Amino acid sequence: MCNRQAEVKGEAMIEGARVQKLRQAFANVFGGAPDLVARAPGRVNLIGEHTDYSDGFVMPMAIDRDVLVAVRRRADSQIRLHSVDFGGVSQLHLGAPVARDGMRTWSNYPRGVVHILLDAGAPLGGFDLAFTGNVPSGAGLSSSAAVEVATLQALDALFGLKLPTFEKAKLGQRAEREFVGVACGIMDQAISAAGVAGHALMLDCRSLETTLVPMGAGIAVVVTDTSVVRGLVDSKYNDRRAECEAATAHFARTRSDVIALRDVTADEVHDAADALGPVVARRARHVVTENARVLSAVAAFRAEDLGEVGRLMVASHASLRDDFEVTVPELDLLVELACAQPGVLGARMTGAGFGGCTVAIMPTDAVAGYVDSVVPAYEARTGLTPRVFTCEASDGASVVG
Ligand code: ADP
Ligand code: MG
Repeated sequence: MCNRQAEVKGEAMIEGARVQKLRQAFANVFGGAPDLVARAPGRVNLIGEHTDYSDGFVMPMAIDRDVLVAVRRRADSQIRLHSVDFGGVSQLHLGAPVARDGMRTWSNYPRGVVHILLDAGAPLGGFDLAFTGNVPSGAGLSSSAAVEVATLQALDALFGLKLPTFEKAKLGQRAEREFVGVACGIMDQAISAAGVAGHALMLDCRSLETTLVPMGAGIAVVVTDTSVVRGLVDSKYNDRRAECEAATAHFARTRSDVIALRDVTADEVHDAADALGPVVARRARHVVTENARVLSAVAAFRAEDLGEVGRLMVASHASLRDDFEVTVPELDLLVELACAQPGVLGARMTGAGFGGCTVAIMPTDAVAGYVDSVVPAYEARTGLTPRVFTCEASDGASVVG
């Protein structure tokens, strides 16, 4: 049992060896060496959930798991894409509109990036690209944003595009929204592009202004995947967006400066409860109180009051459970077990919900106890085996070789 954490950590091979392995895979598939290798991390959101599409505040950190992309220019206008992890090569030609690949769906993320870069007028030529990653896919740690941002980082360097950091984030988001077809906010691509080691980032999703939030020493960020198979996420996510828009429309009728729920106070939501109806009022209350919790968390981190950060995380979870209604019993159970564990300062669901992961903060020396107690207790109650990832706050995208 004591080895569980080590098992999961052991999956993360040291960066140099992974880059070397990718170079080898590139050579096996395309022959010769890549011109360069770039990386971009996954992320975990510490607090500020379901606020991004209301122009609100979020506080993600980039994690020490990433996607590596190796690229080499070609003299012609062919593009060849290879996934080391999924296998296969997907090809396209710069002369034709970029189409989706229905067979090799992993290629739609780099294809989306190519499509958006061309749409933005970037001077691309042909290239060969191979990529690999250790961000668990579909667990809510945003492997898709890592693929997009790593691809953008690699092509930026290969073709000398000189894209500013947040331009990469916006282009990655557009690739996911307009090409892959997932209506995501800007958070995932922004933190993957702009993360800073040792820090979380408070991101204003309206202005894209960021505030560096020092994490402090000796604090562990522990992500636990419920291993619940997520269903109906897209439709429920769209329902929540529509409910937030309905609330916004109500306030905008009397206040022309209201563009999103970001612009509304908790008192206004309280006073409008009857007009909004019980469901929409609860959704709006989550958004406005969650935005306030993010700002409080910035202050608490700065004051090195991690106990307060933990309390804000627990309050965030309760709001997501009771007002926004995006948790499932397994997420509630994991948070309950985590909070009962000695040393754990706070825990909450993270990501879109309806399954996925929790995030907990605790002193580093409490992690072993968490793994030894919470994991078997969760298994016994649910029959599901959770995966635990101990994450360090890492730098955003870069060229690594
Ligand atoms: P999440 O972003 O939460 O991890 P998504 O469903 O948005 O989950 O994205 C997962 C998809 O991203 C995978 O199904 C795959 O198509 C692509 N992807 C992620 N990591 C890799 C990888 N290492 N290699 C190839 N494709 C990947
Ligand atoms: Mg994703």
